Amino acid sequence: MSEFLITHIGWSKKGQKYLPVLEWFRLDNHEFQKVELDKFKNFDFTKQSSKKFCIGYYDELEGKKPCPRLKLIDEKYERCFECEEKNQLKSILFFGKTPTTQGLKNYFNSEHLVYLAYFEPNILKVGTVNIKRSELRLLEQDAQAYVFIARTPNAESAWKLEKYLSKRFGLTTAVQSKTKFSTITLKPNLDKIKTLLNQKTNEIEKNIDENYFEFLLTSKNINSFFQNDIIFYPETLPKKMTKASKIKGVFKGLRGNYLILESEQNYFAYSKKDLVGYRISYV
Ligand SMILES: [Zn+2]
Repeated sequence: MSEFLITHIGWSKKGQKYLPVLEWFRLDNHEFQKVELDKFKNFDFTKQSSKKFCIGYYDELEGKKPCPRLKLIDEKYERCFECEEKNQLKSILFFGKTPTTQGLKNYFNSEHLVYLAYFEPNILKVGTVNIKRSELRLLEQDAQAYVFIARTPNAESAWKLEKYLSKRFGLTTAVQSKTKFSTITLKPNLDKIKTLLNQKTNEIEKNIDENYFEFLLTSKNINSFFQNDIIFYPETLPKKMTKASKIKGVFKGLRGNYLILESEQNYFAYSKKDLVGYRISYV
């Protein structure tokens, strides 16, 4: 029996493959570990308490760092105040602060992509991602298909373009988690989605303000994770297991904010929010 603090649940690229992973901080030797979720044939996690802990921060140069004091936090947060300041991504993204560490400066001054992504039912979203993360960001969000439409030299110009495209072409910049969950069983109709994405990219190409023209990509390929069997589509809507203290079952897939397990021929969905920041033990 070992004890861990879950710090992240998401996707990782290994060679050409995308894998769902869980990252945790070992409380015995204070090391971060990344575990492939597929390796858990049988999940059997027990939450040690309902207390939530700070997950530490990430620095481009230093890498992942644990919270210096392993602080207790309110369940609506991910980090304590100090770690959030160091992590900074949030304050830069939402409050327009300028990056202070060299790692963050490098991150924000590197190339970004602007994408259109499709979500059920019939939702087109515009978003931005650092070029190093590209597809991972789309998998994390559970996008059903996507096309990269522009490349910018830094984060700021990508955000500016995103804002412009959203307003000018009526594209949303966020899709609600409950919308994604309610359509989790739907396998995408790729022909229909491709038509929709093609129409939108053509409309953008024809009507975009000429100031943004230089950023547009000349070849735009529509991709879907559906084609590569990366995404798990349950046949029935999973039962949401809010605040469960036992996480038990066979790993089936990661869909947006939910980890899906199967137990006695039923599907159960555990929200990342109820797992990340909690101490667990497993057999
Ligand atoms: Zn902290």
